Amino acid sequence: MSAKKKRSSKRRKHKICNRGGHENALNTGECKSCKSKKFAPNWVVAKRAINRQVSVEITASNPKFGKSEYRLTLSKWWPGGRSTFHAPNVGQWEQIESIIQADGRAEDENR
Ligand SMILES: [Zn+2]
Repeated sequence: MSAKKKRSSKRRKHKICNRGGHENALNTGECKSCKSKKFAPNWVVAKRAINRQVSVEITASNPKFGKSEYRLTLSKWWPGGRSTFHAPNVGQWEQIESIIQADGRAEDENR
């Protein structure tokens, strides 16, 4: 057993605006880029909005459930709910990516 208890080192230096994913200083109350006053929760490290409902985020996993790791999160919001999908590591994401690309190519060949 070499599990050395380490304090969470995933302390962020920026906060991420919820509208456009802009990086802002932690003490700001308004996004310097788009003036939005809504900020993403503190586990969101980076965010790229696809549209107002759908975004791709880098998030830090909850340290309650083991070591906090960065992961890729796809999130979708709709009136009444929100759902997210977490890809816990790059390996899993690369598998998803290769399936999409392989199937996309197969579609093209059938045309
Ligand atoms: Zn912004």
